[in-house]
Amino acid sequence: MTVDLVLMGLPGAGKGTQAAMIVEKYGIPHISTGDMFRAAIKEGTELGKKAKKFMDEGQLVPDEVTIGIVRERLAKEDCKKGFLLDGFPRTVPQAEALDNILNEMNRSIDYVIHIDVDREILMERLTGRRICRDCGATYHLVFNPPKQPNVCDKCNGELYQRDDDNEETVANRLEVNINQQQPLLDYYRNKGVLKTIDGNRKIEEVFQEVDTLIGSLDE
Ligand code: ADP
Ligand code: ADP
Ligand code: ZN
Repeated sequence: MTVDLVLMGLPGAGKGTQAAMIVEKYGIPHISTGDMFRAAIKEGTELGKKAKKFMDEGQLVPDEVTIGIVRERLAKEDCKKGFLLDGFPRTVPQAEALDNILNEMNRSIDYVIHIDVDREILMERLTGRRICRDCGATYHLVFNPPKQPNVCDKCNGELYQRDDDNEETVANRLEVNINQQQPLLDYYRNKGVLKTIDGNRKIEEVFQEVDTLIGSLDE
């Protein structure tokens, strides 16, 4: 049995937070294209150089580049039992490419889990977000604080705030993302795999519903 999932939701909806909990429970890899691009930039690879100029301008990295890295990633051994895609697909051509890649593997998406959160709540979540420099764990100053200020519970790493998590850029990112996301939600609704979850609740409550949904794949 495979567990092939896509996570959707606006920035701040809690995708990364839920992904960490899903990965821990189900042992499938969390594949975030944003994380992959950031890692490539840090390592100074060819891919990183290509991606950086688009990311710096807040634009999408071209589909051919993005689809290529996802194709390679899905071919890896650890995806045999499933995967959790986060931040991909972002365009309908990416969604179609993903269907083709999976088709070639005799697989298909089980669920697209859409975490739906009101806009005013997203703003406070994003501006209070803090991330571990060493392991990438996500915290929130108010809603999910670390035990010690600015120190990661899991690895003692230092916490930082993403450059784009400030009030001015957040408003623009939300606008852009709402427009990008709508055609994808329609695409997956038409395929009958879209599951929308009310994300305006506590982290644990949201996870309970996500967990029930994934657990139902077993039956
Ligand atoms: P955000 O919270 O701003 O959406 P992400 O970490 O998901 O942040 O993505 C950061 C940047 O990486 C995006 O602004 C975009 O330039 C690039 N990126 C990530 N995923 C994709 C994708 N599927 N297609 C194109 N570009 C992507
Ligand atoms: P995304 O990956 O969708 O951008 P994150 O998982 O990074 O979102 O969550 C954004 C911020 O909101 C983080 O600071 C996180 O700790 C916090 N957060 C996530 N889920 C919830 C929730 N259900 N209630 C309150 N805060 C949350
Ligand atoms: Zn850490």
